Amino acid sequence: MRDKTKLVHMPVVSTDGFSAFGAPVHRASTIVFPSSEAYSTRGDRGPEGYSYGLYGTPTTRILEAKLSQAAGAARTLLVPSGQGANAIAAMALLSQGDHVLIPDTVYPAMRNLATHDLPRLGIHAEFYDPTSLDDLRERFRAETKLVWCESPGSTTMEVQDYPAIVEIAHKGGALVGCDNTWATFISLKPLEMGFDIVSEAITKYASGHADVLLGAVMLADISIAEKIRGFMGRIGIGVSPDDAWLALRGLETMYLRYAQSRRGAELLVQRFEVHDSVERVLWPPLPGSPGHEIWQRDFRDAAGVFSVVFKDGASAGVPQALDCLKVFAIGASWGGTRSLVAPMSISRSRSVRPWSGDDMILRVSVGVEDILDLEDDIRKFLDALTKTSAQNTSETV
Ligand SMILES: *Cc1c(COP(=O)(O)O)cnc(C)c1O
Repeated sequence: MRDKTKLVHMPVVSTDGFSAFGAPVHRASTIVFPSSEAYSTRGDRGPEGYSYGLYGTPTTRILEAKLSQAAGAARTLLVPSGQGANAIAAMALLSQGDHVLIPDTVYPAMRNLATHDLPRLGIHAEFYDPTSLDDLRERFRAETKLVWCESPGSTTMEVQDYPAIVEIAHKGGALVGCDNTWATFISLKPLEMGFDIVSEAITKYASGHADVLLGAVMLADISIAEKIRGFMGRIGIGVSPDDAWLALRGLETMYLRYAQSRRGAELLVQRFEVHDSVERVLWPPLPGSPGHEIWQRDFRDAAGVFSVVFKDGASAGVPQALDCLKVFAIGASWGGTRSLVAPMSISRSRSVRPWSGDDMILRVSVGVEDILDLEDDIRKFLDALTKTSAQNTSETV
């Protein structure tokens, strides 16, 4: 071989005696075959065989296997984001003329998919009250092919009665799926409760450092997994081994971060609850939070993500008071090492159960910083809020 060729080819080195903990990062579009015979018969390798980088590398397979073990899934499929997991499950499994039931409190991007895109494909999406089994039963039809769930609901945190919903869906011949991003497989394993499909945003607690977007579709049944995987190949969805590697590293400390986040949330929730400007805190472990009893019955633990509803008049001062925060950052997403707050407006994302409280709800995600610093920060925020509400009151008098 001449110099130019040598530079292009890879030398063979010994891996004898090499062993390490981390997963290897296999970057590949092309998969190389040992013979033309092996190439022309690559279809015989089956869906788990390697044929092209888009369909998986050992790195992505390791992450899929780890997630399958954690969730009790027959097969996990990786997609480029948590919302991608929701959308791909729905679009791979639903066809023209099908009806899908979606909770009124669903993640906003899923709501938008249901109102903008599913109807365009002839799929009828209907929202239901996540807290009422009667409402779900009434809306169920012969054409209902999928009942989607999300518990607790986005921002307003209603916990759904999963065992009862599984029974209703399966009795009617529909599949049942859920977005398990808040609970994660640490707190809840919906596949063990009879769910067919579970989606999780690996972006959040699993990767855990706010630097990667990734989603997982976890399936109870291999034939449903094959259906979704086929669709993913046809629309060209795959994930990068580098992102998969970041998630694999994140998973190793996920339990610790999740537990720390929950401990922090427990303390901060108390600070918010007793404050004059706060109407209520929505967090499933709190008695009085919607569906608290169901959470107690079904969940093993809780994420450190909760919502704060302010009293009439107090929420106007929240944006200004948020600017006092030094440890908390302002931004969307959650489940990372850094604590986050995000003011959420929900009135436009409810059609079945109108929200009666103040439109602005503050979502709080607790990271792994020192809890005393987080408490100081929240105290400053609440003090500023008291001051601005006092000013607003005296101005209106
Ligand atoms: C964040 C989130 C998603 C979306 O995850 P991305 O990876 O950001 O697309 C989906 N569902 C829920 C409940 C979420 O909180």
